[in-house]
Amino acid sequence: MKKILSIIGLTLAIAGFLYSSFHIFGTTAKFIEQHNLKSNVKKLTADKNKKTEELTVLTKKNAEIKGQYEQLKADKKIKTVYLTFDDGPSPHTDQILDILKKNNIKATFFVIGIGKNYNDYKKIIDHGHVLGLHTYSHEYKEVYANEESFFKDLYKIRDAVKSTTGLDVKITRFPGGSSNAIASKALKTAIINRMTKEGYVYFDWNCDSTDASGNNVPVEKLVKYGVCTTHSDINVLMHDTHAKKTTVQALQQIIDGYKKAGYTFETLDVNSPKIQHVKQPELK
Ligand SMILES: [Zn+2]
Repeated sequence: MKKILSIIGLTLAIAGFLYSSFHIFGTTAKFIEQHNLKSNVKKLTADKNKKTEELTVLTKKNAEIKGQYEQLKADKKIKTVYLTFDDGPSPHTDQILDILKKNNIKATFFVIGIGKNYNDYKKIIDHGHVLGLHTYSHEYKEVYANEESFFKDLYKIRDAVKSTTGLDVKITRFPGGSSNAIASKALKTAIINRMTKEGYVYFDWNCDSTDASGNNVPVEKLVKYGVCTTHSDINVLMHDTHAKKTTVQALQQIIDGYKKAGYTFETLDVNSPKIQHVKQPELK
């Protein structure tokens, strides 16, 4: 009996020992784990602080450079031209891309959707140029029927461009420009307000090559009107359509005109100078 009791006692003692060992081991492991986590958090916090400091320095530097750039622009030492091509892509797109490539300059294409090969959007992007949305149908009656109709058309070209390029394009150009006489003032205001709310920026032009005044406008006329040196920021309106053969023929001379006048060529983005016939309220 005594023997049995001592065996039970021994078993209990061993069990107790094992239990407390596991407990101590578990607590210790937890402690180590917590300690590791703490030191990891500390290290990450230090890293984050360092990166924040670096970012502050870079942001400051960026603002300085931007300020200098703006100053230079203000002094009119930097003159910028934005070449824009509307209504494409077209059978002339390749020729336009070739000329731009030869001159190592980039342009902005305000594309439409109807009757177009969507892969051509990607081709323009692959050449390093920028796409803008010019509505899908470009049919004044349809586009300017009402606000819903306008945005339905705009979203349609947005989705078409996105389907091949993956880009969610935010720059637009109104068919006929923001000063067009087709849409009523009230409709335009409604469209502009909604565009602004949705982050779209529209661009008109302050230099009209006059290639929309008819087909086969003489090259000399296109060059005469397509090269404007009146402002330090110029947005040139041209067209990329099957009928505008002479635009392609005039393009090299137009480019040369700007080069000679000391302009640099840039593409549009939402932060570009807002050359607009009807002013857009500031984006909030
Ligand atoms: Zn157009």
